[in-house]
Amino acid sequence: MTNIVVIGAGYAGLTVARRLARRATAHVTLVNAAPDFVERIRLHQHAAGEDLRVRPLAEAVRGTGIELVVGRVRAIDPATKEIDVDGRGIGYDTLVYALGSVSDDHGIPGVAENAYPVAGLAEATRLRDLVPAKATVTIVGGSLTGIEAATELAEQHPDLHVRMVAGHAPGSGLSVKARRHLGRVFDRLGIEVRTGARVAKVLADSVVLTDSEELASDITVWATGFRVSPLATQAGVRTAHSGRIVVDATLRSVSHPDIYAVGDSAAVQIDGQELRMACATAEPMAEYAARAIATRLRGEEPKPFSYRYFLQCISLGRKDGLVQLVDAHDRPKETVITGRVAALVKEGIVRGAGWSALRR
Ligand SMILES: Cc1cc2nc3c(=O)[nH]c(=O)nc-3n(C[C@H](O)[C@H](O)[C@H](O)COP(=O)(O)OP(=O)(O)OC[C@H]3O[C@@H](n4cnc5c(N)ncnc54)[C@H](O)[C@@H]3O)c2cc1C
Repeated sequence: MTNIVVIGAGYAGLTVARRLARRATAHVTLVNAAPDFVERIRLHQHAAGEDLRVRPLAEAVRGTGIELVVGRVRAIDPATKEIDVDGRGIGYDTLVYALGSVSDDHGIPGVAENAYPVAGLAEATRLRDLVPAKATVTIVGGSLTGIEAATELAEQHPDLHVRMVAGHAPGSGLSVKARRHLGRVFDRLGIEVRTGARVAKVLADSVVLTDSEELASDITVWATGFRVSPLATQAGVRTAHSGRIVVDATLRSVSHPDIYAVGDSAAVQIDGQELRMACATAEPMAEYAARAIATRLRGEEPKPFSYRYFLQCISLGRKDGLVQLVDAHDRPKETVITGRVAALVKEGIVRGAGWSALRR
Protein backbone atom coordinates (compact mmCIF):
# COMPACT_ATOMS: atom_id res chain seq x y z
CA MET A 1 0.00 0.00 0.00
CA THR A 2 1.19 3.54 -0.76
CA ASN A 3 2.68 5.33 2.23
CA ILE A 4 1.61 8.97 2.52
CA VAL A 5 3.24 10.99 5.25
CA VAL A 6 1.78 14.41 6.12
CA ILE A 7 4.06 16.64 8.21
CA GLY A 8 2.38 19.40 10.19
CA ALA A 9 -1.15 19.11 11.60
CA GLY A 10 -2.35 22.68 11.39
CA TYR A 11 -5.29 23.79 9.25
CA ALA A 12 -3.63 22.50 6.07
CA GLY A 13 -1.98 19.26 7.26
CA LEU A 14 -4.91 17.99 9.30
CA THR A 15 -7.29 18.71 6.43
CA VAL A 16 -5.11 16.86 3.90
CA ALA A 17 -4.66 13.85 6.18
CA ARG A 18 -8.36 13.49 7.00
CA ARG A 19 -9.46 13.90 3.37
CA LEU A 20 -6.80 11.42 2.16
CA ALA A 21 -7.81 8.85 4.74
CA ARG A 22 -11.32 8.97 3.24
CA ARG A 23 -10.42 9.18 -0.42
CA ALA A 24 -7.20 7.30 -1.09
CA THR A 25 -6.22 3.65 -0.80
CA ALA A 26 -3.12 4.44 1.19
CA HIS A 27 -1.59 4.32 4.65
CA VAL A 28 -1.65 7.87 6.00
CA THR A 29 0.76 8.98 8.74
CA LEU A 30 0.34 12.42 10.32
CA VAL A 31 3.32 13.92 12.14
CA ASN A 32 3.03 16.97 14.39
CA ALA A 33 5.33 18.56 16.94
CA ALA A 34 2.53 18.96 19.52
CA PRO A 35 -0.29 16.57 20.49
CA ASP A 36 -3.03 19.16 19.94
CA PHE A 37 -4.54 21.05 17.04
CA VAL A 38 -4.06 24.79 17.61
CA GLU A 39 -6.66 27.22 16.34
CA ARG A 40 -3.92 29.58 15.31
CA ILE A 41 -6.28 32.26 14.05
CA ARG A 42 -7.52 32.72 17.63
CA LEU A 43 -4.09 33.24 19.18
CA HIS A 44 -4.52 37.02 19.55
CA GLN A 45 -7.69 36.29 21.55
CA HIS A 46 -5.73 33.87 23.72
CA ALA A 47 -2.93 36.42 24.21
CA ALA A 48 -5.54 38.90 25.44
CA GLY A 49 -6.82 36.48 28.07
CA GLU A 50 -9.31 34.13 26.43
CA ASP A 51 -8.85 30.42 27.06
CA LEU A 52 -8.21 28.43 23.93
CA ARG A 53 -10.08 25.14 23.64
CA VAL A 54 -7.56 22.34 23.29
CA ARG A 55 -8.34 19.89 20.50
CA PRO A 56 -6.35 16.65 20.85
CA LEU A 57 -5.16 15.36 17.46
CA ALA A 58 -5.71 11.79 18.70
CA GLU A 59 -9.45 12.60 18.81
CA ALA A 60 -9.38 14.30 15.41
CA VAL A 61 -7.96 11.19 13.73
CA ARG A 62 -9.88 8.57 15.75
CA GLY A 63 -11.63 6.08 13.50
CA THR A 64 -9.98 7.43 10.34
CA GLY A 65 -7.12 4.91 10.10
CA ILE A 66 -4.57 7.74 10.23
CA GLU A 67 -1.43 6.89 12.20
CA LEU A 68 -0.57 9.86 14.42
CA VAL A 69 3.05 10.48 15.35
CA VAL A 70 3.72 13.27 17.86
CA GLY A 71 7.26 14.49 17.35
CA ARG A 72 9.33 17.15 15.61
CA VAL A 73 10.53 16.62 12.06
CA ARG A 74 14.28 17.29 12.17
CA ALA A 75 15.26 16.54 8.59
CA ILE A 76 13.98 15.27 5.25
CA ASP A 77 16.05 13.06 2.96
CA PRO A 78 14.43 13.11 -0.48
CA ALA A 79 17.04 10.65 -1.84
CA THR A 80 16.04 7.85 0.56
CA LYS A 81 12.47 9.19 0.93
CA GLU A 82 12.73 9.28 4.67
CA ILE A 83 12.05 11.89 7.33
CA ASP A 84 13.75 12.08 10.72
CA VAL A 85 11.29 12.56 13.58
CA ASP A 86 13.28 13.05 16.79
CA GLY A 87 15.75 10.39 15.64
CA ARG A 88 13.15 7.96 14.30
CA GLY A 89 13.18 7.36 10.54
CA ILE A 90 9.81 7.28 8.75
CA GLY A 91 9.71 6.34 5.08
CA TYR A 92 7.27 7.78 2.54
CA ASP A 93 6.12 7.29 -1.03
CA THR A 94 4.40 10.66 -1.01
CA LEU A 95 5.21 13.45 1.43
CA VAL A 96 2.83 16.31 2.14
CA TYR A 97 4.74 19.25 3.60
CA ALA A 98 2.49 21.43 5.81
CA LEU A 99 4.78 22.88 8.48
CA GLY A 100 3.15 26.31 8.51
CA SER A 101 5.10 29.35 9.65
CA VAL A 102 6.49 31.16 12.67
CA SER A 103 6.97 34.82 13.53
CA ASP A 104 9.71 36.55 11.51
CA ASP A 105 12.09 38.70 13.54
CA HIS A 106 13.75 39.99 10.33
CA GLY A 107 17.07 39.71 12.15
CA ILE A 108 16.31 42.84 14.20
CA PRO A 109 18.42 42.89 17.40
CA GLY A 110 16.61 42.10 20.62
CA VAL A 111 13.41 40.76 19.03
CA ALA A 112 14.17 37.11 19.80
CA GLU A 113 15.12 37.90 23.41
CA ASN A 114 12.72 40.71 24.34
CA ALA A 115 9.64 40.72 22.07
CA TYR A 116 6.54 38.52 22.22
CA PRO A 117 5.02 37.21 19.02
CA VAL A 118 1.48 35.79 18.77
CA ALA A 119 2.27 33.25 16.05
CA GLY A 120 2.44 30.16 18.27
CA LEU A 121 0.52 28.83 21.28
CA ALA A 122 3.42 28.95 23.77
CA GLU A 123 4.22 32.55 22.77
CA ALA A 124 0.60 33.67 23.04
CA THR A 125 0.26 31.98 26.44
CA ARG A 126 3.39 33.75 27.71
CA LEU A 127 1.88 37.05 26.61
CA ARG A 128 -1.47 36.28 28.24
CA ASP A 129 0.25 35.60 31.57
CA LEU A 130 2.37 38.76 31.47
CA VAL A 131 0.00 41.42 30.11
CA PRO A 132 -2.26 41.90 33.18
CA ALA A 133 0.71 43.15 35.25
CA LYS A 134 1.89 45.67 32.65
CA ALA A 135 1.04 49.31 31.90
CA THR A 136 2.25 49.86 28.32
CA VAL A 137 2.26 47.44 25.43
CA THR A 138 3.75 48.22 22.02
CA ILE A 139 2.55 46.28 19.00
CA VAL A 140 5.09 46.37 16.19
CA GLY A 141 3.42 45.86 12.79
CA GLY A 142 0.33 47.45 11.28
CA SER A 143 -0.93 44.58 9.15
CA LEU A 144 -3.80 42.25 9.94
CA THR A 145 -2.20 40.32 12.84
CA GLY A 146 -0.98 43.55 14.46
CA ILE A 147 -4.42 45.15 14.13
CA GLU A 148 -6.18 42.10 15.57
CA ALA A 149 -3.72 41.86 18.48
CA ALA A 150 -3.87 45.59 19.30
CA THR A 151 -7.68 45.83 19.33
CA GLU A 152 -8.09 42.60 21.30
CA LEU A 153 -5.57 43.63 23.97
CA ALA A 154 -7.04 47.14 24.24
CA GLU A 155 -10.58 45.82 24.58
CA GLN A 156 -9.77 43.13 27.15
CA HIS A 157 -7.42 45.35 29.18
CA PRO A 158 -8.95 48.87 29.22
CA ASP A 159 -6.29 50.17 31.64
CA LEU A 160 -3.44 49.12 29.39
CA HIS A 161 -1.81 51.78 27.20
CA VAL A 162 -1.70 50.11 23.78
CA ARG A 163 0.59 51.65 21.16
CA MET A 164 1.07 50.49 17.60
CA VAL A 165 4.36 51.19 15.80
CA ALA A 166 4.28 50.62 12.05
CA GLY A 167 6.03 51.71 8.88
CA HIS A 168 2.71 52.35 7.18
CA ALA A 169 -0.77 53.33 8.35
CA PRO A 170 -2.58 50.35 9.91
CA GLY A 171 -4.48 48.38 7.30
CA SER A 172 -2.90 50.33 4.44
CA GLY A 173 -4.00 47.61 1.99
CA LEU A 174 -7.68 48.13 2.88
CA SER A 175 -10.21 50.46 1.25
CA VAL A 176 -10.66 54.09 2.37
CA LYS A 177 -13.94 53.18 4.08
CA ALA A 178 -12.31 50.30 5.96
CA ARG A 179 -9.39 52.44 7.10
CA ARG A 180 -11.81 55.11 8.32
CA HIS A 181 -13.60 52.51 10.41
CA LEU A 182 -10.30 51.23 11.71
CA GLY A 183 -9.38 54.78 12.77
CA ARG A 184 -12.66 55.13 14.66
CA VAL A 185 -12.15 51.80 16.46
CA PHE A 186 -8.56 52.67 17.40
CA ASP A 187 -9.78 56.01 18.79
CA ARG A 188 -12.58 54.35 20.75
CA LEU A 189 -10.17 51.82 22.26
CA GLY A 190 -7.52 54.49 22.94
CA ILE A 191 -4.84 52.86 20.77
CA GLU A 192 -1.96 55.22 20.00
CA VAL A 193 -0.58 54.85 16.48
CA ARG A 194 2.98 55.76 15.42
CA THR A 195 3.39 55.42 11.67
CA GLY A 196 6.44 55.97 9.48
CA ALA A 197 8.47 54.38 12.25
CA ARG A 198 10.96 51.54 11.88
CA VAL A 199 12.23 49.57 14.82
CA ALA A 200 16.02 49.27 15.10
CA LYS A 201 16.10 47.17 18.26
CA VAL A 202 13.94 45.90 21.06
CA LEU A 203 15.11 46.13 24.67
CA ALA A 204 13.48 44.56 27.74
CA ASP A 205 11.60 47.77 28.59
CA SER A 206 11.69 49.85 25.41
CA VAL A 207 11.65 49.95 21.64
CA VAL A 208 14.38 51.90 19.85
CA LEU A 209 13.45 53.38 16.46
CA THR A 210 15.85 53.85 13.54
CA ASP A 211 15.93 57.61 14.23
CA SER A 212 17.21 56.71 17.75
CA GLU A 213 13.97 57.70 19.50
CA GLU A 214 13.35 55.33 22.40
CA LEU A 215 9.77 54.47 23.40
CA ALA A 216 9.22 53.04 26.86
CA SER A 217 7.42 49.72 26.53
CA ASP A 218 6.72 47.25 29.33
CA ILE A 219 5.98 44.60 26.78
CA THR A 220 6.53 44.50 23.02
CA VAL A 221 4.39 42.36 20.74
CA TRP A 222 6.08 41.43 17.47
CA ALA A 223 3.66 41.19 14.54
CA THR A 224 5.63 42.03 11.42
CA GLY A 225 4.98 38.88 9.42
CA PHE A 226 5.81 35.20 9.24
CA ARG A 227 8.62 33.01 7.96
CA VAL A 228 8.64 29.32 7.12
CA SER A 229 10.71 26.38 8.39
CA PRO A 230 14.14 26.01 6.76
CA LEU A 231 13.73 22.19 6.48
CA ALA A 232 12.69 22.16 2.80
CA THR A 233 15.59 24.35 1.71
CA GLN A 234 18.01 22.29 3.82
CA ALA A 235 16.73 19.13 2.11
CA GLY A 236 17.48 20.58 -1.34
CA VAL A 237 13.82 21.00 -2.24
CA ARG A 238 13.43 24.04 -4.49
CA THR A 239 12.14 27.00 -2.53
CA ALA A 240 11.30 30.60 -3.34
CA HIS A 241 13.15 33.54 -1.79
CA SER A 242 10.65 33.34 1.09
CA GLY A 243 11.66 29.71 1.79
CA ARG A 244 8.22 28.47 0.70
CA ILE A 245 8.31 25.40 -1.55
CA VAL A 246 7.92 26.18 -5.26
CA VAL A 247 5.07 24.02 -6.56
CA ASP A 248 3.46 23.31 -9.92
CA ALA A 249 -0.20 23.78 -10.75
CA THR A 250 -1.04 20.60 -8.81
CA LEU A 251 0.82 21.75 -5.64
CA ARG A 252 3.69 19.30 -6.24
CA SER A 253 7.26 20.41 -5.67
CA VAL A 254 8.82 21.36 -9.01
CA SER A 255 12.09 19.70 -7.95
CA HIS A 256 10.68 16.64 -6.11
CA PRO A 257 7.37 15.42 -7.56
CA ASP A 258 6.79 13.01 -4.66
CA ILE A 259 6.52 16.01 -2.32
CA TYR A 260 3.40 18.19 -2.17
CA ALA A 261 3.32 21.46 -0.24
CA VAL A 262 0.26 23.16 1.24
CA GLY A 263 -0.58 26.09 3.49
CA ASP A 264 1.95 28.70 4.56
CA SER A 265 4.82 26.44 3.39
CA ALA A 266 3.78 26.50 -0.27
CA ALA A 267 4.61 29.25 -2.77
CA VAL A 268 1.50 28.92 -4.92
CA GLN A 269 1.26 31.23 -7.91
CA ILE A 270 -2.14 32.20 -9.30
CA ASP A 271 -2.02 34.58 -12.27
CA GLY A 272 1.58 35.42 -11.40
CA GLN A 273 0.74 36.36 -7.81
CA GLU A 274 1.90 34.29 -4.78
CA LEU A 275 -1.00 33.41 -2.51
CA ARG A 276 -0.62 35.04 0.88
CA MET A 277 -0.10 33.04 4.05
CA ALA A 278 -3.61 32.59 5.40
CA CYS A 279 -5.97 30.01 6.73
CA ALA A 280 -8.24 31.16 3.91
CA THR A 281 -5.71 29.89 1.34
CA ALA A 282 -4.35 26.93 3.39
CA GLU A 283 -7.60 24.96 3.62
CA PRO A 284 -8.53 25.17 -0.09
CA MET A 285 -4.95 24.09 -0.96
CA ALA A 286 -5.29 21.15 1.42
CA GLU A 287 -8.67 20.07 0.02
CA TYR A 288 -7.24 20.24 -3.45
CA ALA A 289 -3.98 18.39 -2.63
CA ALA A 290 -5.90 15.47 -1.10
CA ARG A 291 -8.02 15.21 -4.26
CA ALA A 292 -4.96 15.50 -6.53
CA ILE A 293 -3.04 12.79 -4.68
CA ALA A 294 -6.04 10.44 -4.67
CA THR A 295 -6.60 11.11 -8.39
CA ARG A 296 -2.96 10.27 -9.22
CA LEU A 297 -3.15 7.10 -7.13
CA ARG A 298 -6.00 6.03 -9.44
CA GLY A 299 -3.67 6.61 -12.40
CA GLU A 300 -5.46 9.76 -13.59
CA GLU A 301 -4.21 13.34 -13.96
CA PRO A 302 -5.78 16.00 -11.68
CA LYS A 303 -7.06 19.34 -12.96
CA PRO A 304 -4.89 22.32 -11.92
CA PHE A 305 -5.49 24.09 -8.61
CA SER A 306 -7.51 27.28 -8.88
CA TYR A 307 -8.21 29.92 -6.26
CA ARG A 308 -9.76 33.34 -6.05
CA TYR A 309 -10.01 35.76 -3.15
CA PHE A 310 -13.42 37.06 -2.00
CA LEU A 311 -12.88 38.86 1.29
CA GLN A 312 -10.57 39.73 4.13
CA CYS A 313 -12.07 39.32 7.55
CA ILE A 314 -10.54 41.13 10.50
CA SER A 315 -11.60 41.01 14.13
CA LEU A 316 -11.45 44.30 16.06
CA GLY A 317 -11.99 42.92 19.53
CA ARG A 318 -15.00 40.74 20.31
CA LYS A 319 -17.69 43.31 19.46
CA ASP A 320 -16.42 44.84 16.25
CA GLY A 321 -14.87 43.73 13.01
CA LEU A 322 -14.22 44.47 9.38
CA VAL A 323 -15.23 42.42 6.39
CA GLN A 324 -13.43 43.85 3.37
CA LEU A 325 -14.66 42.59 0.02
CA VAL A 326 -11.77 42.09 -2.41
CA ASP A 327 -11.43 41.24 -6.10
CA ALA A 328 -9.98 37.97 -7.37
CA HIS A 329 -6.46 39.33 -6.83
CA ASP A 330 -7.05 40.39 -3.21
CA ARG A 331 -7.40 44.10 -4.07
CA PRO A 332 -9.96 45.90 -1.87
CA LYS A 333 -13.34 46.90 -3.26
CA GLU A 334 -15.22 49.79 -1.70
CA THR A 335 -17.72 47.46 -0.01
CA VAL A 336 -17.05 46.80 3.67
CA ILE A 337 -19.15 45.43 6.50
CA THR A 338 -18.30 46.75 9.95
CA GLY A 339 -19.39 46.54 13.59
CA ARG A 340 -21.14 43.66 15.30
CA VAL A 341 -22.28 42.06 12.05
CA ALA A 342 -18.68 41.88 10.85
CA ALA A 343 -17.61 40.48 14.25
CA LEU A 344 -20.24 37.76 13.89
CA VAL A 345 -19.19 36.97 10.31
CA LYS A 346 -15.56 36.69 11.42
CA GLU A 347 -16.46 34.43 14.34
CA GLY A 348 -18.45 32.22 11.95
CA ILE A 349 -15.48 31.95 9.61
CA VAL A 350 -13.07 31.12 12.44
CA ARG A 351 -15.41 28.42 13.72
CA GLY A 352 -15.91 27.10 10.19
CA ALA A 353 -12.15 26.84 9.62
CA GLY A 354 -11.68 24.79 12.81
CA TRP A 355 -14.68 22.62 12.05
CA SER A 356 -13.48 21.98 8.51
CA ALA A 357 -10.06 20.75 9.69
CA LEU A 358 -11.31 18.77 12.70
CA ARG A 359 -14.67 17.35 11.73
CA ARG A 360 -15.65 17.57 8.10
C1 LIG B 1 -2.86 35.62 15.58
C2 LIG B 1 -3.10 35.14 14.17
C3 LIG B 1 -4.29 35.43 13.54
C4 LIG B 1 -4.53 34.99 12.25
N1 LIG B 1 -5.72 35.29 11.66
C5 LIG B 1 -5.98 34.82 10.43
C6 LIG B 1 -7.24 35.08 9.83
O1 LIG B 1 -8.09 35.75 10.40
N2 LIG B 1 -7.48 34.58 8.58
C7 LIG B 1 -6.55 33.84 7.92
O2 LIG B 1 -6.82 33.41 6.80
N3 LIG B 1 -5.33 33.57 8.47
C8 LIG B 1 -5.02 34.05 9.69
N4 LIG B 1 -3.81 33.79 10.27
C9 LIG B 1 -2.81 33.01 9.50
C10 LIG B 1 -3.08 31.50 9.67
O3 LIG B 1 -3.04 31.16 11.03
C11 LIG B 1 -2.05 30.66 8.92
O4 LIG B 1 -1.94 31.12 7.60
C12 LIG B 1 -2.50 29.20 8.93
O5 LIG B 1 -2.46 28.70 10.26
C13 LIG B 1 -1.63 28.35 8.02
O6 LIG B 1 -2.00 27.00 8.15
P1 LIG B 1 -0.88 25.86 8.03
O7 LIG B 1 -1.58 24.57 8.21
O8 LIG B 1 -0.05 26.08 6.82
O9 LIG B 1 0.09 26.12 9.26
P2 LIG B 1 -0.15 26.03 10.83
O10 LIG B 1 -1.57 26.24 11.16
O11 LIG B 1 0.86 26.94 11.41
O12 LIG B 1 0.24 24.53 11.18
C14 LIG B 1 1.55 24.04 11.08
C15 LIG B 1 1.69 22.84 11.96
O13 LIG B 1 2.99 22.26 11.77
C16 LIG B 1 3.57 21.95 13.02
N5 LIG B 1 5.04 21.97 12.86
C17 LIG B 1 5.82 23.01 12.53
N6 LIG B 1 7.11 22.61 12.43
C18 LIG B 1 7.12 21.29 12.71
C19 LIG B 1 8.14 20.28 12.74
N7 LIG B 1 9.42 20.57 12.46
N8 LIG B 1 7.78 19.02 13.03
C20 LIG B 1 6.49 18.69 13.30
N9 LIG B 1 5.49 19.58 13.28
C21 LIG B 1 5.80 20.87 12.97
C22 LIG B 1 3.05 23.03 13.95
O14 LIG B 1 3.13 22.61 15.29
C23 LIG B 1 1.61 23.17 13.45
O15 LIG B 1 0.75 22.25 14.09
C24 LIG B 1 -3.53 34.23 11.55
C25 LIG B 1 -2.32 33.93 12.20
C26 LIG B 1 -2.11 34.38 13.48
C27 LIG B 1 -0.80 34.03 14.18
